[in-house]
Amino acid sequence: MTDTPRHSEVSRRVAAYLQHRPAVAAALPAPSETWTFREVALDREAHAKLNKHDAIESVGQDRDRDDRQRIHTWRTRPETHAFIQRVVLPIDGLAPCGHSGVRTIEPGECYTCCRDDCEETFGPATAREVLG
Ligand SMILES: [Zn+2]
Repeated sequence: MTDTPRHSEVSRRVAAYLQHRPAVAAALPAPSETWTFREVALDREAHAKLNKHDAIESVGQDRDRDDRQRIHTWRTRPETHAFIQRVVLPIDGLAPCGHSGVRTIEPGECYTCCRDDCEETFGPATAREVLG
């Protein structure tokens, strides 16, 4: 156990944060990809939190499309991604709209996620997938 890397696990803060926000967890790309804020479905607050608690890391800067300003590129830390795959997503499967949970509108016909303000619906096959 002596060669276990120090950062092989996410901090308790990050763990709790991601478990309560499966949509944020699902929005984070795999560690093999670098991305910019605009490319992922994160709000500023979530992004700032993840950065502050080292769930993601800055990997450099890029020019934007118009070559006018520099934009940061990011990477999801491998331990964050591993935690999401192992703990967050299996428990809280995401509906196609990106929200968690499944509610039945019409049994065997029509389902929706657990958010009252979301209008998206999906079929029984998807519902089964979301529920795992
Ligand atoms: Zn939804």
